[in-house]
Amino acid sequence: MLGFIQNPIKSLFHKEHPFVEKDSLFYEISDAFETKGCPVCHLLDRYEDQYMEALFYESVNDGNIRMKMEQSQGLCPLHTQKFLKAGDILGLSILGADLIEEWLIALDRNNEVNTTCLLCEQRSQNERRLNLAFARYFYLKEFRDAFESSAGLCKKHFRQIQTLINDQNLAEALIKIEEAKIEKLIANLYEVIRKHDYRFQNETIFDRETEAIRRVWEFLKK
Ligand SMILES: [Zn+2]
Ligand SMILES: [Zn+2]
Repeated sequence: MLGFIQNPIKSLFHKEHPFVEKDSLFYEISDAFETKGCPVCHLLDRYEDQYMEALFYESVNDGNIRMKMEQSQGLCPLHTQKFLKAGDILGLSILGADLIEEWLIALDRNNEVNTTCLLCEQRSQNERRLNLAFARYFYLKEFRDAFESSAGLCKKHFRQIQTLINDQNLAEALIKIEEAKIEKLIANLYEVIRKHDYRFQNETIFDRETEAIRRVWEFLKK
């Protein structure tokens, strides 16, 4: 009889997908597992920085990027702040003049269009690409193992990726890994709370505990 009893977690990991290729994105996400937060958020921020840099340094010469920028007619409040921080005076002036002149022309013609923020659009395209890739690589044991030793996904990306994993066992494996990470974070937060009790005030609050506070808030991010 004993021979029939299997470790449930282990049996979930027997699935392998023959068609999943380890392309460059596989290695990018795997590297992002070594950072202190959600790997998808980490890569999205990095791609966004690279894209903003390209907007500044290539838009002056690249007609395609410049046209996209003109069509976007400005950025959302968050990206406006980021753009102002990242940009240099010349780039901001050239692009700013372009965009505001386009707006004036539209105003004259009475055909002002309400477009979405170019950087938000870019971010959601990248997000979709990363989520799909993550769900695909999750068929590979090597990827799941690497994910297990990472900081885990944030709430938003966990939900998005979970809905993309069609295999029931693998979707459950994702939940199990994520839950274990969250439970550790909660335990650390309760330690911080306990150490604020006057009876335990002499106890040191460890770095991993303060780090857990940051991670919980990062996890909850919308
Ligand atoms: Zn995330
Ligand atoms: Zn935006």
